[in-house]
Amino acid sequence: MERFGPDSIRNIVLVSHSGAGKTSLSEAILFITKAINRLGKVDEGNTTSDYDPEETRRKISINLSVLTCLWQDTKLNLIDTPGYLDFVGEVKAGLRVADGALLLVSAADGIQVGTEKSWDYIREAGLPCLILVNKMDRDNADFMKILKDLQAKFGKKCVPLQLPIGAQADFKGIVDLLALKAYGGKDNSETEVPAALKSDVTTCRDMLVEAIAESNDDLLEKYLDGQELSGEELASGLRKGVASGGVVPVLAGSALQNSGTTLLLDTLLKYLPPPKERPVVTIVAGKEVSSPASEEAPLAALVFKTTADPYVGKLTYFRVYHGVIASNSQVWNTNKQAVERIGQLYSLRGKNQEPVTELRAGDIGAVAKLNTTATGDTLATREHPVTLPPVVFPAPLYSQAVSPKGKTDVDKMGPSLTRLVEEDPTLQMHRQTETGEVILSGIGDTQLAVAAERLQRKFGVSVTLSMPKVPYRETITVSAKAEHKHKKQTGGHGQYGHVLLELEPLPRGTGAEFAEKVVGGSIPRNFIPAVEKGVHEALTEGALAGYPIVDLRATVYDGSFHPVDSSEICFKIAGAQALKKGVAAGQPILIEPIVNLSVTVPEEFTGDVIGDLNTKRGRVLGMNPQGGQNVIEAQVPQAEVQRYAIDLKSLTQGRGSFSVTFSHYEPTPPNVQQKIVAEHEAAKAAA
Ligand code: GDP
Repeated sequence: MERFGPDSIRNIVLVSHSGAGKTSLSEAILFITKAINRLGKVDEGNTTSDYDPEETRRKISINLSVLTCLWQDTKLNLIDTPGYLDFVGEVKAGLRVADGALLLVSAADGIQVGTEKSWDYIREAGLPCLILVNKMDRDNADFMKILKDLQAKFGKKCVPLQLPIGAQADFKGIVDLLALKAYGGKDNSETEVPAALKSDVTTCRDMLVEAIAESNDDLLEKYLDGQELSGEELASGLRKGVASGGVVPVLAGSALQNSGTTLLLDTLLKYLPPPKERPVVTIVAGKEVSSPASEEAPLAALVFKTTADPYVGKLTYFRVYHGVIASNSQVWNTNKQAVERIGQLYSLRGKNQEPVTELRAGDIGAVAKLNTTATGDTLATREHPVTLPPVVFPAPLYSQAVSPKGKTDVDKMGPSLTRLVEEDPTLQMHRQTETGEVILSGIGDTQLAVAAERLQRKFGVSVTLSMPKVPYRETITVSAKAEHKHKKQTGGHGQYGHVLLELEPLPRGTGAEFAEKVVGGSIPRNFIPAVEKGVHEALTEGALAGYPIVDLRATVYDGSFHPVDSSEICFKIAGAQALKKGVAAGQPILIEPIVNLSVTVPEEFTGDVIGDLNTKRGRVLGMNPQGGQNVIEAQVPQAEVQRYAIDLKSLTQGRGSFSVTFSHYEPTPPNVQQKIVAEHEAAKAAA
């Protein structure tokens, strides 16, 4: 294999709303470039990109895949990403390591939520971008309408670089508006620009030329002077315009019919920049340094994905930004401050890996069985321990409790979950101490369902997912006194412990305190710790619904003892029982966690979102407009928003986002308390 470096590689990420055709297009490109000799179909579940059983079954991409092929002496690393919102972490990783993006729009469906989101992500990542209007062969496909919509949504910088010849059943080929050439037929050979298209071609070409001129000062003057711009000037002007984000060329095609694909490949190669034209930012001794990608510089490679493969074990995906990494070498993991041994390196084509001896600056590849390296780490050299800014992943907002199904699953669940979480940085796992549950958090329900399937398939662990228990607590509302005398006479040695407690409510959030005010030795000093122990034990399970009791002070102020029969255990029992009686007398209530919710939605959804928060017992505290969106601040009981990631998605068709933080505990309304107490009692009766 030839050596590919910063000027002979293209790293292109494919993004879109789910179903616009990324996987089909990747497959078509691999076929045309002869990287594969059999064209797979999404609908038959045999594409190179989507090979996980979870993907073929759902017919959606869940993982990003890197697909390598060669075209015109250039190595193309295509990064196919999932369109489904739950897997946005993979999209973010793909965007981080690409030098350019191709945004697909389905000609039959138009601009969808995922199209808008993808657009935002591309802009956020500062990537040069081309748009492909795919599925031109489908019913309802209308290129000009989509072009108008794109301009309305994303601005006039979206200009046609191609026009389709015909549409729907009559879709026959493509006109290249810069070269003014037409291509069509089975072999995409050059044909005549149809006479009927001439006026559209003129209008659209004018749009293109104007956008190129406007994004380029040198050309603008000439253009405004009315001088003709040469083909050369237009092509290089377009390259610059794309690189700066000032021009976003719009293309047409059909991935399924494989038409326009060779032209698409030429266009991608021509207008999306190679690695050497993109600045590389590294962090050296705390400072950001920007320099062009260089093969001569010391190694700097970013790990952007880790998978646990049942056959090869752990597989680490990385992009080389500077230097060269070689098979069977040693590198320095800057983040872990550790040497990492590199075995065989691979170039990637979905699940197929092709061994390579080295990967040079600008390239993407993988290596198996690294020891300490995780997603986000930088591989460098010990002499030049630089770091690269990691992928910024979205925070997980949807949680479920995971419990093992059978006895054999109990021990295996923890370690297997740890490996899954390692694979997907948008998954997090923790044990909720208060409820004892293992909580798995992610972006959405599909992602968690897929995680559960993977646990089964990869590690043979069966689990059930359920809504996490809400960590309710119990407390008292008035002061109360209580007394318990533990006294037993059973043959020889008796038992005796006698405790008087005073309970007072404390402010919310202070927890439980124990104090002691015994005078005159009515309880000897050495038994006080036993009383405290009893009180603390009794605090762990309230009488209302079994939740921990908090926010009170229990003061032992009197009691009595027996010189022979008293013991620590007797005072512990007396302390515990006195506390239970005291709490019962203190008009106990259930309190619930309240969270701060900050919801960002396009203006038109504001009313619906606030209405929904009202039905969830929420209090809207404020609303701030922010760049065409509204940010709604509210406080809501945690119990009501455990499914908010799903609720908000359906309320806003996926356009809303939110963040949540714990605020405080508050008494539950009486009807809610009654319901929870009744449930607790039913569960106790059933046990
Ligand atoms: P992805 O989710 O963006 O990867 O989209 P897929 O490649 O999985 O395609 C989704 C569906 O659209 C599949 O059923 C494809 O067969 C179909 N499809 C993709 N591209 C085209 C196209 O150009 N024309 C038509 N008619 N169908 C297409």
